[in-house]
Amino acid sequence: MPVPHNWRVFKPAVIIFSGALLFLAGCATAPTDNSEPPPPEWTATNAVAPPPAFRPIPRIQPGVKTNLPPVICTNPPPPTIARPAPILTWTSLDRWAAGQKLIAPRRLGNSPVTAYAIASRNGTMILEIGSRDATWNGVGLHLGFAPEIIDDQVFVHGLDLQKNLEPLLLGEPLAFGPSRVIVLDPGHGGLKGGTLSILDRRPEKEFTLDWARRLKPLLETNGWTVFLTRTNDTDIALTNRVSFAEARHADVFISLHFNSAAPDKKQSGLETYCLTPTGMPSTLTRGYTDFWQEHFANNAFDLDNLRLALRLHRALLRAGGEEDRGVRRARFMDVLHGQHRPAVLIEGGFLSNPQEAEKIESAAFRQKLAEAIANALK
Ligand SMILES: [Zn+2]
Repeated sequence: MPVPHNWRVFKPAVIIFSGALLFLAGCATAPTDNSEPPPPEWTATNAVAPPPAFRPIPRIQPGVKTNLPPVICTNPPPPTIARPAPILTWTSLDRWAAGQKLIAPRRLGNSPVTAYAIASRNGTMILEIGSRDATWNGVGLHLGFAPEIIDDQVFVHGLDLQKNLEPLLLGEPLAFGPSRVIVLDPGHGGLKGGTLSILDRRPEKEFTLDWARRLKPLLETNGWTVFLTRTNDTDIALTNRVSFAEARHADVFISLHFNSAAPDKKQSGLETYCLTPTGMPSTLTRGYTDFWQEHFANNAFDLDNLRLALRLHRALLRAGGEEDRGVRRARFMDVLHGQHRPAVLIEGGFLSNPQEAEKIESAAFRQKLAEAIANALK
C-alpha cells in the first residue's frame, strides 16, 4: 500500500484534506484515517532536536471516495478515567540504543523508503522514515508517530519508544497466570449482523460465532477456561460484553470480527487492534474524533495488549496466508477500552473482497483461524 511521506503542507489544509482521506477497514464501514494529531509540542533538551515542519502521513487507498456510512460495531468512547501528562519529547534513536546497550540502528536503504533496523535479543524492528508503518520480526505494526531524520539522525517519538520499541526490544514475552480464563467475543448478533459477504450476503455474525465455537474446545484442550459472550444469534450490548468478561474474571479478551471495505472489492488482509496508548494518535478512528489524551482502564495493559496482538496476528498470518495489514491502535472500540485485562479485536479478513469472502465462508479456513489462535495461546 503506497504511503506518501514527503508532504509538507499547512496545518489548516491538513485538517480539511485529512477529513477527505479514507482508508478502508472495520466492520461494515469505510473508516477514515483522520488520526493525524496536531503537531506535538517540542522541548529543548540535549536528547531532543528542534521540531521539523508538521508532516502528515495519511494512508490513502487509491480510487476510494465515499462518505462515512453508519458505524455498526462500535460506540463513542465513555468518559475517561484519568488524564496523565503526555510524553512530548522526541529522542535520537542512536542515543537511545546506546543507552540501552543495543547496537546502533542500521540503515537499510532508500528504496522505496528510507528504513532503519534496530535489533536486540528479542528480535528486529524496522522503522520507515516519514511513515508510521513499521515491522516487528516481519509482522506489521503501526507506530503512533512517523520517525524523522534530523541532522542525519533518526528521531523517534517518546511514546513510540515507551509503548512500542522498549516492550518489544527489551521486554519479557507475554505470559499467562495459572488461572487462564479467556472470554471470546463473537462480533455482532441478532439484528446487528455486522457486514455482509459480497458473495451471498451472509452476515458477519454467522462467521464470527462459528469461529468462536471452533476455538473454544481447542483452548479448553490447552487448559483454558473459555466463555463466549454469546453462544447463539443474540444481540449483546458492547458494554455488556465487557461486564461479562469482568464478571468471569477473564485474563484475556478476544473480540472476533470480519472486515469490509465495501464498495471497494480489492482490499483484503488481516488487522488486529488494541487500544491506543494515551497521548498517541490512533491508526484508525472510523469517523470519531480521536481524543488522544484520553486514558481508559485498558490502558493499564498497553504493553500486554501489544504483545498479545502481535502474537495472535503472527499466528493468524501464518495459518491463513492473508495480507498483513498490521497490528493497529484504535480508541473508539467499546469492547476494548473498559477491559481490565489484555484485550484485542481481530478483523479476520474482508467479506467485501470476493476471494477473501470465499475463504471466510469456508469452514476449513475458519478452523485454521481457530487453530492459529489456540496455538498462539498454548
Ligand atoms: Zn464486526
